[in-house]
Amino acid sequence: MADCLFCKIAAGQIPAAIVHQDERLVAFKDVNPQAPMHVLIIPRRHISTLNDLADSDDALAGEMIRRAASLAREQGYEGRGYRTVFNCNADAGQTVFHVHLHVLGGRKLTWPPG
Ligand code: 5GP
Ligand code: ZN
Repeated sequence: MADCLFCKIAAGQIPAAIVHQDERLVAFKDVNPQAPMHVLIIPRRHISTLNDLADSDDALAGEMIRRAASLAREQGYEGRGYRTVFNCNADAGQTVFHVHLHVLGGRKLTWPPG
């Protein structure tokens, strides 16, 4: 999508600290990290919110989740733990409308979230 920030990051038009990329996904450090590890995993293809995932996106969603686990493992957080979050629409505080999976690790995270 022409005017989407994360599409531009995926296309290399806006710089980001990329930690993984492949044919379908890009993962990069959040510009305003909320934990020592705070990575966003996005599909290269524009999908606005979690509501817009189709049946045909099941494999893509699985790749995002498994990539989150893999990146957290690389940082040594496999055992101590980490959090994965999809914010969807206003009540969850979604601000960028290109679906993204937050991966947060390296500190104790409280529950329930704010
Ligand atoms: P949301 O609130 O939509 O779930 O999360 C959007 C995230 O994108 C926020 O954590 C925010 O800090 C991050 N973000 C916003 N703009 C940029 C940017 O230009 N670069 C990077 N790397 N992260 C961004
Ligand atoms: Zn987009």
